[in-house]
Amino acid sequence: MKLPALNNEAVRPAELNRRDFFKSGAAVASVTLAPGVTLMAFGGEANANADAGKRWGMLIDVNKCASDCNACVKACSVENGWKLGGNPDTDAQWIRKVDLTHKQTGREASLPMMCQHCEEPPCVDVCPTGASFKRVDGIVLVDKHICIGCRYCMMACPFKARSFVHEEVEGQEAHAPRGKGTVESCTLCVHRVDKGGIPACVESCATTGHGAMMFGDLNDPASDIAIALKNYASIGLRDDLRLNPGVRYTNL
Ligand code: SF4
Ligand code: SF4
Repeated sequence: MKLPALNNEAVRPAELNRRDFFKSGAAVASVTLAPGVTLMAFGGEANANADAGKRWGMLIDVNKCASDCNACVKACSVENGWKLGGNPDTDAQWIRKVDLTHKQTGREASLPMMCQHCEEPPCVDVCPTGASFKRVDGIVLVDKHICIGCRYCMMACPFKARSFVHEEVEGQEAHAPRGKGTVESCTLCVHRVDKGGIPACVESCATTGHGAMMFGDLNDPASDIAIALKNYASIGLRDDLRLNPGVRYTNL
């Protein structure tokens, strides 16, 4: 099939064809791999370990999150092999701490911010290749093998949760493949979750004694997170957008 030039106006209505084209693997050459690392880890088997009956999520108690604590960010960096302390405009940052001050009352709050694993993810809607996708258990991921680095998803995300990898990557973890020229974000530590574990940030938060982060199945009424959500008021960030994020905050 002969494809029209991508800057041709005529290509716009044919978005489906373009998507199919990229899905065919024709765009793979844009991805740079480190020796011995394959970006197929999230490929066609992404749903193999996912349970459609579950919806994984997080509840963050902002009252318990200390403004001088960065343990969750450090843990994510170590777990997933991205560098701490980089330039947030140019370097990967899967999770960051955000400090807020209420304009009228002066009340201060500090909270971790990462991909919110939206039920209606705009990043997935705008991705022309299908690289951004949501698993049946609600975890939103990027298949780096078919990500062409167009960054539409970064523009669509209201939470600035995604990063573009500008540089060659070093020190990759096999469970968290990364590649120059692709977009990445919090995976909810899917490699741990699929083995029955909890995300590294949640684990580290508990280790500090703050215990501000809870992880679990939002669909299971007997889970600690579902019970907490039933008993305490919580919000999703930008609830007005109706994205129904899987990450919720209380005491914010
Ligand atoms: Fe996508 Fe951003 Fe929502 Fe994550 S927070 S699912 S990257 S729109
Ligand atoms: Fe990072 Fe995992 Fe926490 Fe996501 S769930 S912010 S990938 S440590």
